[in-house]
Amino acid sequence: MTEIKQYLENLESNLKTKYPNQKEYLQAVAEFMGTIEPFLNQNPIFVEKNILEMLLVPERLIEFRIPWMSDSGEWKVNTGYRVQYNSALGPYKGGMRFHPTVNQSIMKFLAFEQIFKNSLTSLPIGGGKGGSDFDPKGKSEGEIMRFCQSLMQELQKYIGPDQDIPAGDIGVGGREIGYLFGEYKRLNSYQAGVLTGKPLSYWGSLARTEATGYGLVYFVEHLLNDQKDSFAGKKVLVSGSGNVAIYAIEKAQELGATVYGCSDSSGYVIDPEGIDLNLVKEIKEIKRDRIKTYLEKKPKAKFVEKGNIWSDEFYFDIALPCATQNEISEELAKQLVQNGVQIVAEGANMPTSLEALEVFKENNILYCPGKASNAGGVAVSALEMAQNAQRLPWTFEQVDHELNQIMKNIYETCRDTANRYANKNDFVSGANIAGFERVAKAMLSQGLV
Ligand code: GLU
Repeated sequence: MTEIKQYLENLESNLKTKYPNQKEYLQAVAEFMGTIEPFLNQNPIFVEKNILEMLLVPERLIEFRIPWMSDSGEWKVNTGYRVQYNSALGPYKGGMRFHPTVNQSIMKFLAFEQIFKNSLTSLPIGGGKGGSDFDPKGKSEGEIMRFCQSLMQELQKYIGPDQDIPAGDIGVGGREIGYLFGEYKRLNSYQAGVLTGKPLSYWGSLARTEATGYGLVYFVEHLLNDQKDSFAGKKVLVSGSGNVAIYAIEKAQELGATVYGCSDSSGYVIDPEGIDLNLVKEIKEIKRDRIKTYLEKKPKAKFVEKGNIWSDEFYFDIALPCATQNEISEELAKQLVQNGVQIVAEGANMPTSLEALEVFKENNILYCPGKASNAGGVAVSALEMAQNAQRLPWTFEQVDHELNQIMKNIYETCRDTANRYANKNDFVSGANIAGFERVAKAMLSQGLV
């Protein structure tokens, strides 16, 4: 075994001993470590200076109590987190997730991936992530507001426009960002740049809502264009029906694809006529209802209660997983291969398990990892910060154009880095190595800090 391989194995096994129960975190690290060796072989300085071990330790991990009162007057409590993982490239940047599954493992995996994702955007942002195990499902408007206010009373001590800039993620959209911002403003001064994903009526950026979904489709379109192909005429399935899924469907349809299905935690819908996006938007964005109700207006569609969309036998070309981590198991990956899928591009963070990844590799499926293909959201967050600092809003076209350029650049960087250090079309290696290179160089230049 080479010295570098041994170094990587030791780091990983130490982490396993230290955090044996942090499954998702160990998974994200394993995926990364499995690709970085060829780069280290050519750049041994990063091993000599132990940059990798340094990078693995979060700069700061904050865990706190969030007390809040329910509508009926009950005293409730949740746990809040903010992982400030790495600030070599800029202030910590990353979303807040409200979901009952949130724990330290989930927070650390998300923050770890965010470091490389943010690096790939080429914008000046470090990596962070936060959230709470609070479940927004079934909560009233008042409960959501009080919860956000209580969370911010504590979080405000650790964030700032040049320090750490949270945004949305699962369970956190414009409404929650609004309440968080209001509370921050009350406790501090008016600092628009402390949060991104703000509503358009005050300092929000046009195209931020669309950015992750649009960016995902732009990434894949650049990949297809490289092969003299395009989205036009393609059959697509999307998982999820939140913000990322909705705008991925919108852009894919705009580019001439037909999207046949989407899902939520209640089950999935397949519409043989193609998904009616206005209906999905009405259900999800306005009524905040379950996707099941799609059938009330489109009785020809099929709904599979509690089903995972990737288990369906529908024959299609492009899979866009936009729901959540590990939604594609090994078995489901095999099903996708059988269904004729050629491209899997992640809108969610780590929706593919390590075993599923192997299945895609063995079958030459073009697989685009989330840290590259879903970077459009955080990229436009950074553009929102730029607009806030300028005190000037940009037009939708301007932001959208920048987004497309950034996604093109990320795609080309991943492609070229894969060609240089790994195999053609190995976008996992391409994304990890290119993302790591920028961060590692910055860490080296900033010294032992
Ligand atoms: N939560 C998003 C992500 O996973 C966006 C983060 C942001 O805009 O800061 O990248």
